Amino acid sequence: MKISNYNFYYPLESNNQETLIYNSRTNALALIENDNLNLLKRQGQGQVQIEDSELQSNLLRGGFIVADDLNELDLIRLSLLKSRFSDQFLGLTIAPTMDCNFNCIYCYEKGRQDSYMSAQVQQALYNFTEDRIDKAKHFSITWYGGEPLLALDTIEELSRQFIRLCAEQQVSYSAGIVTNGYQLTTETAKRLQSAKVSMAQITLDGSPEIHDQRRPLASGQGSFATILNNIQACAEFIDITIRINTDQENAGKIDSLLDILESSNLKDKVNVYLGFVDTINDCYLDDKCLSRKQSSHLNYLEEKKLSERCFICTSAKYPKLYGNFCGADNSSSYVVDPDGFLYKCWNDIGLPECAIGNVLDLTNRYNNQLFSNYMLYMPTDDPLCKKCKLLPICMGGCPHLRVNDRQDQCSEYKYNLESYIRDYAKALSSHSGN
Ligand code: SF4
Ligand code: SF4
Repeated sequence: MKISNYNFYYPLESNNQETLIYNSRTNALALIENDNLNLLKRQGQGQVQIEDSELQSNLLRGGFIVADDLNELDLIRLSLLKSRFSDQFLGLTIAPTMDCNFNCIYCYEKGRQDSYMSAQVQQALYNFTEDRIDKAKHFSITWYGGEPLLALDTIEELSRQFIRLCAEQQVSYSAGIVTNGYQLTTETAKRLQSAKVSMAQITLDGSPEIHDQRRPLASGQGSFATILNNIQACAEFIDITIRINTDQENAGKIDSLLDILESSNLKDKVNVYLGFVDTINDCYLDDKCLSRKQSSHLNYLEEKKLSERCFICTSAKYPKLYGNFCGADNSSSYVVDPDGFLYKCWNDIGLPECAIGNVLDLTNRYNNQLFSNYMLYMPTDDPLCKKCKLLPICMGGCPHLRVNDRQDQCSEYKYNLESYIRDYAKALSSHSGN
């Protein structure tokens, strides 16, 4: 036996007898008596001998010790390849239009064609899906844009066809929508519900003064009041997640938004989380964005605040293990624009030079090199990542940043893993009454 390369040790603050031991390859967390831990550590990185068979079996179960000949990096590599090339989950992010009724200050889609999906492209997209669905166990759609609710008829028509196809093929189906929420009336929410769109992500960037300056209508008018009314009216028909896009300008100013959500009786009806504005494709200024270190600290503090105020917040907290990182490095996930162009990442949508194909003409692969860059990148071979103990819960970070040679893609756990683990352990022990 040898000690895993992926162990983290956090001595308990409440007593000096025990230490929290966390393993990022298995995501296991345990308490270990300090005497046992010292015994383990004294034996260093070579072979370890543990006489207590129960202790040995528990350490093995959590992956804290592993067989001498086990190459943990190979296991991570295998799990990455398995999930990257799995065809059990078919995922499409579909923009039925690139048109938008907003003019957000940080929009990375400005200047892209505001076209709508034609009947010909819809048919080709259906055929594309039909050709791939037989291997899948689950089919999931994210409606995206532009503003997808400007093309509600297309969402309904394609949903009807996809739902029927999934029923015929006995494939489970789910759908969500990323919308600015301005047109999400009760009537629209009911239509989405009938089209099996069960989740809506809506962005509010702060109190009305902050939000309206950052996310005005194309006409320049504010949008906050209408969106808030819509959220109140629709929360019973569709699960709503509020994303608060944060940068240097509104960082630390979300309290007033939380007050409004609370006084609007939305606290236990919507999920809330922080997003972070990025300078995608140079559409926003670098010095307005938060560094990964800043956003990680802020996220930790705001999540704590949300939890203390009893908001629903289902983001990060306890780490999760990654296979592939996201749809961009998964062989069964595609982003589709209204003209039928296929992309790997939704940040690329509407940029013809980033298209990897088109549902109207699948013989031409377009940007093969970009496709390869997304699909063949192995964080397990990267000089920094392969030595990094966070690799299994980070997997090299956002592939879009990677392929664009952008730095600062490390996981937020680089800055606050210990805090998350300690908080989680505290919550566990208070639930169990210890
Ligand atoms: S590559 Fe990055 S930006 Fe693109 S979908 Fe994946 S996580 Fe999001
Ligand atoms: S991106 Fe950073 S945190 Fe993630 S595995 Fe690589 S070095 Fe580690």
